[in-house]
Amino acid sequence: MRFFNTYSRQIEEFEPRDPAERKIAIYTCGPTVYSRAHIGNFRAYIFEDLLQRHLELRGYKVHRVMNITDVDDKTIRGSREAGIPLGKFTAQFKEAFFEDVETLRIKRADEFPAATEQRYIDRMIEMIGALISRGLAYQAEDRSVYFRIHKFPNYGKLAHFDLTQLQSTGRVKHDEYDKEHIGDFALWKAWDEEDGDVKWDSPWGPGRPGWHIECSAMATALLGDQIDIHCGGVDNIFPHHEAEIAQSEGVTGKKFVRYWLHCAHLLVDGQKMSKSLGNFYTLPDLLEKGYTGREIRYALMRVHYRAPLNFTWEGMEESRQSLARIDEWLARLRETAAKKIDDGKNKTQPGEQFEQALDDDLNISAALGFLFETIRETNRAMDENELDAASAGTWLDWWKRINTVLDLESEAEIVVPPEVAHLGKERENARRQKDWKRSDELREQISALGWEVRDTKDGQKLTRRGAS
Ligand code: AMP
Ligand code: ZN
Repeated sequence: MRFFNTYSRQIEEFEPRDPAERKIAIYTCGPTVYSRAHIGNFRAYIFEDLLQRHLELRGYKVHRVMNITDVDDKTIRGSREAGIPLGKFTAQFKEAFFEDVETLRIKRADEFPAATEQRYIDRMIEMIGALISRGLAYQAEDRSVYFRIHKFPNYGKLAHFDLTQLQSTGRVKHDEYDKEHIGDFALWKAWDEEDGDVKWDSPWGPGRPGWHIECSAMATALLGDQIDIHCGGVDNIFPHHEAEIAQSEGVTGKKFVRYWLHCAHLLVDGQKMSKSLGNFYTLPDLLEKGYTGREIRYALMRVHYRAPLNFTWEGMEESRQSLARIDEWLARLRETAAKKIDDGKNKTQPGEQFEQALDDDLNISAALGFLFETIRETNRAMDENELDAASAGTWLDWWKRINTVLDLESEAEIVVPPEVAHLGKERENARRQKDWKRSDELREQISALGWEVRDTKDGQKLTRRGAS
């Protein structure tokens, strides 16, 4: 398996920290919950989903963390403008985020730590303290604490950035005079009036963490000092990920990340889809236009993650047509497989071209190209009555395998098996009687059958485990 590593700007052979155990730690920067995420953000999350699922198909055990940034300038401003406490303000967007994740069939990370949880705030304070004691950080006159980038020789390595260029950048907010160097970034922001009641105590006085230290703290707290893969969109490379390296390695003295993977942007008319440009769509915007979650999933997934993807309505239509082709093909294969006539012609041996394309820096375009070529060929064979039942069954099995990565089967095909439905009913009863122990036992049993149960405001929902 090979990936393009932003750190080296080269395609590298993938060698995890622990090749024998095949365990992989992945950290992915999650949403800042000051508004509903737009589909550009979801391009990044779908790329990460594809990465995780492919690694799993190849037999790796993935431990993935995705953080939730629930305190920063934007969330504080938003809560002030809305006149509600920060926690309440961000809760609505967290909920919306998880709804969208489910609609897009993005596999949930193992953990979704939120920056405001006290244990992570404690970890941030501990890390900042360690950086100060090593001369890598200092408290300035404005009482905020900054990272001293000159003391970290590798600063700029990820972005391939010359430190001296930083001198020429424009002024950075109000605090530049207090910093030793214009590129020094805030680890701890001293409380000011605009922060209202958003503050935590620290050895440097009341304040709140900077965005970058949040990720260093949550990543190292949950995954350890060293992780295999760290992802995000290209806009995260600098300064966010550069800062994460400086902070984490400044504290641990160990190489923080082995592979940095960044996805290119979703564009609209050649420009990045973003909140600030106002050229964005949210998932509900597209659902309202009649597109389904899987159509949007396909549209965001079908282009190689390092190539910019232009969002267009034609692109949405093409995605719809591609999925219709897959649906028709599956229906035909099922029909053929059901004939149970075996004329001994089964010479079908699906190879590994799909997986091999993904091994190659997650080349989804090539993998899908191979899928559609297969569809064309097997359809032709079915037209000519040359595909026997066993071969059709073999292709259906192949689809099942590659669909653990794609997760593009039509909703109509996803049927809850009766035994799972039965356990679900029992669990609903247990919950009605407030028998939480029984309810948890039933959840376990449902899980053992490969299904997941979630309690939503519309009641209990059953989904295939890892499919949503
Ligand atoms: P944010 O909530 O702005 O921190 O962004 C969350 C994630 O979405 C980050 O990994 C960003 O790099 C990514 N992102 C933001 N805008 C886009 C876009 N237009 N296309 C792809 N990814 C994006
Ligand atoms: Zn981050």
